[in-house]
Amino acid sequence: MFQHFDPNEAERFKPITRANVARTPYWNRLSPDLQEAVNVVSAVLPFRSNEYVARELIDWDRVPHDPIFQLTFPQKGMLREDNYETIASLIRANAPHDEVELAADRIRLQLNPHPAGQLTHNVPKHHGCAVPGVQHKYRETCLFFPSNGQTCHAYCTFCFRWAQFIGHDDLKFASHEADTLVEYLREHRWVTDILFTGGDPMIMGTKVLRRYIEALLHPDLEHVQTIRIGTKAVAYWPQRFVTDPDADALMTLFDRVVAAGKHLAVMGHYSHPVELSTDISQEAVRRIRSTGANIRMQSPLIRHVNDDATTWADLWRTGVRLGAIPYYMFVERDTGARRYFEVPLVKAWDIFRKAYSRVSGLARTVRGPSMSATPGKVHILGVSEIGDERVFVLEYLQARDASLVRRPFFACFDPTASWFDQLVPFSERDKQFFPDADDSEFGEESRPVPLRVSPGLSATSRP
Ligand SMILES: *Cc1c(COP(=O)(O)O)cnc(C)c1O
Ligand code: SF4
Repeated sequence: MFQHFDPNEAERFKPITRANVARTPYWNRLSPDLQEAVNVVSAVLPFRSNEYVARELIDWDRVPHDPIFQLTFPQKGMLREDNYETIASLIRANAPHDEVELAADRIRLQLNPHPAGQLTHNVPKHHGCAVPGVQHKYRETCLFFPSNGQTCHAYCTFCFRWAQFIGHDDLKFASHEADTLVEYLREHRWVTDILFTGGDPMIMGTKVLRRYIEALLHPDLEHVQTIRIGTKAVAYWPQRFVTDPDADALMTLFDRVVAAGKHLAVMGHYSHPVELSTDISQEAVRRIRSTGANIRMQSPLIRHVNDDATTWADLWRTGVRLGAIPYYMFVERDTGARRYFEVPLVKAWDIFRKAYSRVSGLARTVRGPSMSATPGKVHILGVSEIGDERVFVLEYLQARDASLVRRPFFACFDPTASWFDQLVPFSERDKQFFPDADDSEFGEESRPVPLRVSPGLSATSRP
């Protein structure tokens, strides 16, 4: 059985944000330049870390190069130089808040690749009505974005879901949403997997999460075999599974899913092995697994955070040792500060290949690098040659057109390409694998659907 922690010693969640960072003990560990960068960049982009992450996961002697500092604290390079200067000079001149906010809004608009409207492309229609919170792209698997799970215990600097970060813990809304989800699933009997995503669904209290999950255990939904929960809480706030007041109730909920004969998979977003180095993060893995749930690990490859083979090999080895199954390495496109975080495809493949070659077969369940592009999940198999021309060898792991899956195809080699839309089919035959994005009724991949009124773009008024 799992260890019980003394509830009196349980750590309470303490966010670190723009508003309070200067009063934390970590502030003095930053040089004046780094302090300024935090101030300036967080005036434009949301900043949220937390006391556990700062104390346990960041090595302040290695700042600014520390990977978790890069992952959760704003970095100067995330803004274009002229934009940085605009905000920096306003702040240096003690400009009024409104003026900084106006300039920041202008920059955010340049950064936002998802103008209003596009966000609605992936919402399935049910009896002519949009089903809020559901994105159904691949036949077997439905993504579900519970409106109560649209924030996170810390914000990853590369993440672009910030346009929708807003937290609720609203039971009534959960019930209503669960009802529409169930109704949709009842009439889509080929769906075997439902994937809770966000934000982070584990931001929800157990009581609210239970409303969503228990609805899926209804006898009418026998075809739903797997419930997955995509979460970063295993890294940013493992207390959620161990010492939070409703952690035991969460374990009971997990037990119940398993007892109902379904597979429960916690899709743990682990970026770096240091996230699995603390006692409490390892205890979280033990407790989750003790319910019969599985943990799979997946993460994007991010420059400055995890762009080297040793990090990934360590991560996968640690995962396997603790019982978490390596699943995907993603290429990230969907980032607000793409130029700062992006890794060219050829380098991503090289990192993957080197890491993969250093781990045993039990860790080679991992697939990657994989791009979630408009037509599907594109797996970079490697670089090869046809005649005397270099090519990328690719395949679809998932595709909206299922007939494309697992058929190797080729693109012209391009050492600077960092996303699928920059690749060119190698031959006439390869063109079928590059469906025209404009033909698609799905404008955007992996776009969370805004479930309520847009929270606006203010980075400073976030919870
Ligand atoms: C990745 C993804 C899934 C899940 O795919 P699996 O290969 O089953 O993990 C489902 N829907 C979308 C839109 C995805 O991007
Ligand atoms: S990547 Fe996931 S955990 Fe990180 S900020 Fe984005 S939604 Fe939250």
